[in-house]
Amino acid sequence: MTTIFFITNAGKAVAARIEAALNDASAARFDPELVRQQWQPGNKLVFIMAAGIVIRTIAPLIADKKTDPAVVVLDESGQHVISLLSGHLGGANSLAQNIAHLLDAVPVITTASDVAGLPALDIWARNNNLFIENPDALSSAMIRLLNNRSLRIFSDCDVSLPAVFERTTEQDSADVIISVSDDVGDAVAAELPLMLRPRVLTVGIGCNRGAPEREIEASIRATLRIANIAFGSIRNIATIDLKEEEPGLVSFCRNHNFPLVTFPAARLNMVPNVGRSETVFKATGAYAVAEPAAMLASGVDWLLVDKYKYQNVTVSVARQEVFRTPGMLSIVGIGPGRAEHLTPAARMALREADTVVGYDTYIEMIRPLIADKDVLTTGMTGEVERCRAAIDSARKGRRVAVVSGGDPGIYAMAGLVFELLSADEREKETTEGTGSAASSSSGFSLPSVPFSGISVSVVPGVSALNAAASVLGAPLMHDFCAISLSDRLTPWDVIERRLIAAAAADFVIVLYNPKSRGRTEHIEAAIALISQVQIPSTPVGIVKAALRDGQQAIIATLGTVPFGEIDMQSTVIIGNSKTFVCNGRMITPRGYEDKYDLA
Ligand code: SAH
Repeated sequence: MTTIFFITNAGKAVAARIEAALNDASAARFDPELVRQQWQPGNKLVFIMAAGIVIRTIAPLIADKKTDPAVVVLDESGQHVISLLSGHLGGANSLAQNIAHLLDAVPVITTASDVAGLPALDIWARNNNLFIENPDALSSAMIRLLNNRSLRIFSDCDVSLPAVFERTTEQDSADVIISVSDDVGDAVAAELPLMLRPRVLTVGIGCNRGAPEREIEASIRATLRIANIAFGSIRNIATIDLKEEEPGLVSFCRNHNFPLVTFPAARLNMVPNVGRSETVFKATGAYAVAEPAAMLASGVDWLLVDKYKYQNVTVSVARQEVFRTPGMLSIVGIGPGRAEHLTPAARMALREADTVVGYDTYIEMIRPLIADKDVLTTGMTGEVERCRAAIDSARKGRRVAVVSGGDPGIYAMAGLVFELLSADEREKETTEGTGSAASSSSGFSLPSVPFSGISVSVVPGVSALNAAASVLGAPLMHDFCAISLSDRLTPWDVIERRLIAAAAADFVIVLYNPKSRGRTEHIEAAIALISQVQIPSTPVGIVKAALRDGQQAIIATLGTVPFGEIDMQSTVIIGNSKTFVCNGRMITPRGYEDKYDLA
């Protein structure tokens, strides 16, 4: 829930724009009482007024970075959008960025990790399924990371670390400890080491009706203490479906945010090698509850802790075999070059990644944003190997961003990634000898839906055609098509056929890769073909390094194309029969002049 507070009419107008653009947002006149009511974990508060008013109002309400809502402040003219509180976990940084984007304002982000291009430990921990046991130590760990540009990590689990983290085998000198084991380290609130607990345990519970919450919690803690495992590593609680609404159990789970997983008696009775109790059977229909529930919920066939019985409660503990977070592959468009044309979504996808894969030129364009990441580059020709490497890392559980200039879905990496994944799927079908369930599923797949075992998403970018068109004026105002002149992957006769058809249909034509492999004959041949249909005075726009350093634009005609000026970094736009040039701008009319008198 986002509430946007305003004071004046000017503020109200800005609030209305934000309200319209965000889901689940409402604008309200500023009222300190309403602010107090909305001061709830997970909420977002946006203030359009002086920062001083906001700070004085919220000062008594601020409690804890884990629960405080996100607070964003902006001035009434909508020039600066300040992320004031709960930047990371609360989401104020990304909200400020989104609002700034919407209003064409400057986002003001002051959390140090964003500034330095280093990972935010809290986000990294969340993405890797690690529970932060002593969140008060986060800031000292972050300060050490900023000062030393590295952190020493002791880990006894299989978790992949960002490149700037350094593994150590000495617990005593570690800044961060990642372990399920409770006898490792001894974390005290605000002091290092920062203790991170992999959430890998399932606690199976059997309990009598009316078992008090206090006893349930005490029994679980006692059991874990005996086994020397950390409470913070609990992932979920499992039991029989009869206990789905058992008040003490439900309340315990709610307090700790543990999901409660339940199974019917018949299912529990199918688990082999578990002791059978007639008494439990009489009461529940299951011969045992805690042990089989723990194994079923964690997908393993052995128990870390068999069974401890307390007055009203029985506790068993299972541990997932491997600690692995699902891999992620995002295919990210970084736009034509300048930072301001990188979308906030692309920035976020880069931030969430631990590995970045891409052609060197693109990597250089985003270097300041990825200082902390592992980077894989292999020049231009290694596209297939590069994509394979990206997919392999994601399958191993890493969070990989594959970057492309412009848009990743236009003559770039998105297609190749999906082609490789599809080939893997087909391979699986043949070796498994069955039709795949995936191919029979109907409808479209949402961006976060796993594809071939990993979560794959495409983050769009500003393509060269958008960039070049913006520099030239409005050449793409009517139907257009894009054709790449590169014959590296497409036979030249196919390219010729498409050029002729596009010109014959009077499309505006965008030419990508006009100087493929350094040769000029392709662009000369393309212009000659189009000239067979369109008249010599048809406008031709050439934009070199659009929206990058060294940008150059030329507007010529089909009859006077300066071939020598066209290079690998150029996009060429050829107008249709209606395109005209006025004051150095190339304009393709939409048709308004026929409908309205524009003069
Ligand atoms: N995925 C990219 C296109 C890659 S193909 C996109 O969506 O923009 C490479 C071709 O794109 C180059 O040969 C050139 O024709 C064009 N291109 C890429 N960036 C450009 C820029 N900044 N200015 C002009 N053309 C560009």
